[in-house]
Amino acid sequence: MTVMYDRVALIGLGLIASSMFWAMKRAGIAGEVTGYARSDETRDVAREIGLCDRICDSAADACEGADLIVLCVPIGAMDAVAREISSVLKKGAVVTDVGSVKRAVIDAVGPHIPEGVHFVPGHPLAGTEQSGPRSGFAELFDNRWCVLTPEGADADATAKLRSYWEALGSNVDEMDADHHDLVLAVTSHTPHLIAYTMVGVADDLSRVTDTEVVKFSAAGFRDFTRIAASDPTMWRDVFLNNKEATLEILGRFTEELFALQRAIRQGDGEHLHDYFTRTRSIRRGIIEAGQDTDAPNFGRNPKP
Ligand code: NAP
Repeated sequence: MTVMYDRVALIGLGLIASSMFWAMKRAGIAGEVTGYARSDETRDVAREIGLCDRICDSAADACEGADLIVLCVPIGAMDAVAREISSVLKKGAVVTDVGSVKRAVIDAVGPHIPEGVHFVPGHPLAGTEQSGPRSGFAELFDNRWCVLTPEGADADATAKLRSYWEALGSNVDEMDADHHDLVLAVTSHTPHLIAYTMVGVADDLSRVTDTEVVKFSAAGFRDFTRIAASDPTMWRDVFLNNKEATLEILGRFTEELFALQRAIRQGDGEHLHDYFTRTRSIRRGIIEAGQDTDAPNFGRNPKP
């Protein structure tokens, strides 16, 4: 593979940035990769494990002379980071981000992008419940989707960024930012909120002891706990910044939940059976699309 960007700057060095770095190395598509994270501790870890070719002590230093700048910080930090790097961005450079919400990031970052610099927002739909500089791995984006929301950005800059994500292993789609936020409210944000709630409910329920919750967790609860272990800062920012779409989906969720609650109270087995038959077919569609394994129990060893 040939080098696509001579200089890439990663701002924020957590799960997504570290995975991008290892995937870039695997693909051989970047010249020098610089990196910056807020804390001394994260920068020290990055130097220790060889994450990035050069770790800088400010975001501006990392972005100086870069051809591609990737903002990999929590959504609430995008505004301050974009403001800090604005004056060092070189003409023709591409700025992108990996934020899980798009409209709020466009509003926060867009005003700081100087004339002659291209801003092409993005969101790789890939992640785990881990965070930090040690959590990344080169395969994270393989066969996952990355959504770009270019909104009139330069066509060549967008096409090149698309090829870059494909080289990292992703499939790429383009979408309007508001539509992205609604789709993600359904597929990611609301499911996370529901998982957080279920784990919180179990934690509050004193009639079931903690040891019972842990011991019998394989009955379904543990799959909620994986999602509910996700980074608190990242997810706080997601809900604060995708308010409308999340509230709309939550409203619909609550209505459906009440309907199921009524069916249970009234002994309406037909309603429950029809509902569960419909939802089961969605799982089949996900497997057919190659987005999960069809092995029983997600392919986990039955004896953990
Ligand atoms: P992460 O592992 O928690 O890492 C966040 C990084 O941002 C850390 O290196 C942190 O530095 C740095 N940071 C935080 N505030 C900063 C600031 N003000 N200035 C400079 N650096 C700052 O997070 P992540 O999971 O990679 O998520 C990063 C972005 O990717 C978020 O916008 C998130 O919405 C998006 N995303 C996440 C996932 C996922 O599943 N995790 C999936 C897709 C997209 P310190 O370590 O020094 O605090």
